[in-house]
Amino acid sequence: MFCEICGERKAVETIGMEGMELRVCPACTRFGTPVAEQKAPVRKDPVEFHEPDILPDYAERIRDALRKRGLSVRVLAEKLSERASTLEKVEKGKMLPDRKLAKKLEKFLGIVITGSVEAPGRLHRGLPEATLGDIAEVRVKK
Ligand SMILES: [Zn+2]
Repeated sequence: MFCEICGERKAVETIGMEGMELRVCPACTRFGTPVAEQKAPVRKDPVEFHEPDILPDYAERIRDALRKRGLSVRVLAEKLSERASTLEKVEKGKMLPDRKLAKKLEKFLGIVITGSVEAPGRLHRGLPEATLGDIAEVRVKK
């Protein structure tokens, strides 16, 4: 890039002069005031691995599933090759299962304990269906 003042072939600075911005060589920066280089947009960190959101009622779901299957935490621990003490804490809601364990529990118990916290609500949030009553009411108002 050429210096916009003297034409030198190495414009490396941007200066402000009389309201304009000029690319100039180092020698010509004295003709204006340095303009801060436009900062490159802050690069976002690469997507980091995030633990899945564990549903707030994960412990309840696990307990329910165990009860329905008549399983004890100890048996579950054996089946999943996990420590019973770990599973006890998870089942009591004292410890969040890590991703691996959560997935194991979901698969083995046939339950869902991970996912967006909002997801379950979304299922019920369909478009409101107009009922005959609503329509009648609208007509009455008109
Ligand atoms: Zn120059």
